[in-house]
Amino acid sequence: MAKVFCIANQKGGVGKTTTAVNLAAGMAMVGQRVLLIDLDPQGNATMGCGIDKRTIQNNVYQVLVGLASAKESIVRAEESGFDVLPANRDLAGAEVEMVEFESRELKLREAIAEVKDQYDFILIDCPPALSLLTLNALCCANGVVIPMQCEYYALEGLSDLVNTIKQVCKNLNPNLTIIGLLRVMFDPRMTLSQQVSEQLEKHFGNKVFQTIIPRNIRLAEAPSYGIPGVLFDTKSKGAKAYIDFATEMVERVGLPATA
Ligand code: ATP
Ligand code: MG
Repeated sequence: MAKVFCIANQKGGVGKTTTAVNLAAGMAMVGQRVLLIDLDPQGNATMGCGIDKRTIQNNVYQVLVGLASAKESIVRAEESGFDVLPANRDLAGAEVEMVEFESRELKLREAIAEVKDQYDFILIDCPPALSLLTLNALCCANGVVIPMQCEYYALEGLSDLVNTIKQVCKNLNPNLTIIGLLRVMFDPRMTLSQQVSEQLEKHFGNKVFQTIIPRNIRLAEAPSYGIPGVLFDTKSKGAKAYIDFATEMVERVGLPATA
C-alpha cells in the first residue's frame, strides 16, 4: 500500500514543484513505483514531467468532482519513469464547485483509494495557498515535506503552515506528520541563508533534512524540456542533491510494507 506525501508551502515559487517532480523521479530511479499528483491549476508538475496539460483527456479536476475515476485519469510520464495524475486550469473551478459537497476535504482521499495498492509512493504537489485543494492533500497524506528558501519571510509563513498541519492532524487526519523541512535554492555565499538555515536547525532539530538543495540553473532549465532535473543533467549539482534527498527521504519514511 502506497505511502502518501504532500509537498506543501503556501508561499509561491519556493520550489514545491521542483521538489515534487525530482523526488518522484529520484524514487523511480531506485525502483519505486511512484504516482505524482498535480494539485495545482498551474499544471507545472504535469508539464515538468513531460505531459502536455493542454491535451490531456481527464485531469485531477474531473476526479475531484466525480466526473472521472483516478484510474482512468492517470497517465504515464514515460521518460520520467512514473505515473502522473495531471492538472490544468480546469482545476481552478474545483474549489468553488466543491463548496457544495459533503466531506469536500476528503475527495482526493476517496478518489485515490482505488489505486493506492499499485504504488509504493504517492506524492502530491500542492498549490501555493492553504486552500481546499491543499486541505484535500493534507487529509490523504501520511506526511508533509516542506520545501523552503532560507530567507526571513520563509520563517514567518512557516508557523501558519505548521498550525494548519496541527489542526488537520487534530480534526481530520490523525496520521499526518511533518516529515521534514527541505532547504532549497540554497546559496551558501549569502550570510542570511546561513543564518536562517542555522535557525531552522535550532528550532526544528532533526525535522530538517540533512540534504540541502543548492540553487542550480540546470534544475530551472529542465522543465522547459519536460524532463525532471535529476534526469536532464544527472551530473549537475542540483540533480545530485535531489538524488541524495530521495535517498534520505526513503530512509526516513521507510519502504511500504508490500515493497
Ligand atoms: P508555485 O508556488 O508557483 O507552485 P513552486 O513552489 O512550485 O511554485 P517551483 O515552480 O518549483 O516553485 O520553483 C520556482 C522557480 O524556481 C521555477 O522557475 C524553478 O525552475 C526555479 N527553481 C526551483 N528550484 C530551483 C533550484 N534549486 N535552483 C534554481 N532554480 C530553481
Ligand atoms: Mg508549483
